[in-house]
Amino acid sequence: MHPATHLSVARLREEGLDLDLALGEEWFSRWQEEDPALEFAAPGGLAAHLHLERHGHDILVRGHLAGTLRLSCSRCLTPFSLPVDAHFDLLLTPRPPHFEEEEELSRADLDRDFYSGEVVDLESILREQVLLTLPLKPLCADDCKGLCPRCGADLNRETCRCPAEEPASPLADLKNIKL
Ligand SMILES: [Zn+2]
Ligand SMILES: [Zn+2]
Repeated sequence: MHPATHLSVARLREEGLDLDLALGEEWFSRWQEEDPALEFAAPGGLAAHLHLERHGHDILVRGHLAGTLRLSCSRCLTPFSLPVDAHFDLLLTPRPPHFEEEEELSRADLDRDFYSGEVVDLESILREQVLLTLPLKPLCADDCKGLCPRCGADLNRETCRCPAEEPASPLADLKNIKL
């Protein structure tokens, strides 16, 4: 638990609350310690701006994330910088009692989330939103040529001498079948 990122619902009024949070390198390294599978870094951190409004039992969260993340290209493995400039809107509703985790996964409306008790967990909201800014297949450039599957040469920088691979055809096996 980190006090700055857990917000008491009682602090929220209808006119709203604005928060500026610096998600510094420490914030990311703490996350990395808990989840070593994270495949990115944020050397300069990210700046988060949050606006929270309470409407009855619901809490509206408008957010903005800005900065730069450092990722590895999924084709050539070269690290590259990804500029982040992302807006998000979330509606938090009180978690119903005896709510099953599986129900949560099958929810169609992903912009809706829950809060439990009297505290909004900004930490997990921010983590989720950072993950949403990551591309599924990070590429250093759209036309990245990747690594040669035979010798491992970075084909963006050099041409290797490996023979060009024959394109695998789904019909290849059929050639051997005698009719
Ligand atoms: Zn690449
Ligand atoms: Zn090669």
